[in-house]
Amino acid sequence: MHLSARKASLFSGHFYSFAKNDKMKRQGFTTRALNVPFPKTDPHHALQMPVYGAVAFEFDSSRQMAASFRGEYVAHVYSRSSNPTVEYFEVKLRELTGAQAVLAVASGMAAIADALLAIVGSGDNIIAGNHLFGHTYALFQQTFRDLGIEVRFSALTDPQEILGLVDERTRAIFFETVTNPQLEIPDIEMLSAVAREKNLVLVADSTMTPPNVFEAGNYGVDIEVLSTTKYVSGGATSFGGAIIDHGSFDWAKLPLMQPYARKFGKNALIARLRKNIYRNTGGSMTPQTALLQIQGLDILELRVSRCFGNCMGIGKFLSTRKEVTRIDYPGLPGNEFYALSRKYFRGIPGTIMTFDLATEDACYDFMDRLQVIRRATNLNDNKTLIIHPWSTIYAEFSEEERRTMGIRPTMMRLSLGIEDAADLIADIEQALG
Ligand SMILES: *Cc1c(COP(=O)(O)O)cnc(C)c1O
Repeated sequence: MHLSARKASLFSGHFYSFAKNDKMKRQGFTTRALNVPFPKTDPHHALQMPVYGAVAFEFDSSRQMAASFRGEYVAHVYSRSSNPTVEYFEVKLRELTGAQAVLAVASGMAAIADALLAIVGSGDNIIAGNHLFGHTYALFQQTFRDLGIEVRFSALTDPQEILGLVDERTRAIFFETVTNPQLEIPDIEMLSAVAREKNLVLVADSTMTPPNVFEAGNYGVDIEVLSTTKYVSGGATSFGGAIIDHGSFDWAKLPLMQPYARKFGKNALIARLRKNIYRNTGGSMTPQTALLQIQGLDILELRVSRCFGNCMGIGKFLSTRKEVTRIDYPGLPGNEFYALSRKYFRGIPGTIMTFDLATEDACYDFMDRLQVIRRATNLNDNKTLIIHPWSTIYAEFSEEERRTMGIRPTMMRLSLGIEDAADLIADIEQALG
């Protein structure tokens, strides 16, 4: 075999080059998801990407092996670094997002930690939204602080306030597309303008709004991180994460990235991840998980639209009930963030909603009477899940801290699943009493 025959673009997130199908650009999300070709033809013409459960891959000769270790011959070597099934999941996400490169990792937290550690080092700082997923907040407040990386928190609503936080060691702005459980939506184009002005990397955690509703690259997001555990897994089937480089940031402008930018150009981020951060910290996705996540991508749009229908139906039902004192869902006209939801997410701002009853005890009694809706703490499962954030996720914080974070003792969070709307409504109706 000629070495050059398989010398392909390692750092664009796949190992074997294959013709991009331009016709696919004009097709819908699900059609495209189902038709991303395998990077390498399966000898049996299987319709599903096989699970390559191998840890290691064999070489034809010692010279070929040496060439591979020098980076001159592109092949899978060891599955912690890369694996054909995981690679297909990466290629699929790359094709669906039109991104420069995608790296799949073990979890959403691995995606956030790896992506940020690729661009910031000790002495650097980043600006982040002050309403964050709990463990992201803990990563910033504990792990990053111990590593000498400072995180400056902001409401991310006032460009002047954000600019005031920037100094010569600021490297990035990190935000969540829809905060949870506050369900606020930032003005992403405003954040992008601030980031451009100051040469900061704009990093979005878009877990709540997966790629079928949010085209991050169109709004100036440089790096998108996803907990694929949520929507993309197909409904709580497995843990996973993805780092998506939209190709819009000039990596030569970041000190840590310069050696990689000189050698790998537009693929500098993925190169620093693959050859350093990701490989050396070892948070890889398994091929077995990749299969579940590939199947999850195939049915992503179907699930999101079904969950969205349920969200709207239940939102409308709850708004007719006098026991319900407040409903927050940016998909409902009248919500403060409705216009931004339409602007950025085609009106589908995820499918998590919150609603309030008169008292904390009324919430417990209501939740205990539910028979179809489950009391559990995940998001975007196929099952509808309910939680009382005040007494669970945020219980470790003081009352005052909880209130500043927008958590109320009378509030419940509902993650809509794919059950039949009529059954969910009947369940809520009987539980309201
Ligand atoms: C769940 C979640 C994460 C963490 O994802 P894991 O896969 O559990 O590590 C990060 N960000 C958001 C917005 C999430 O909902």
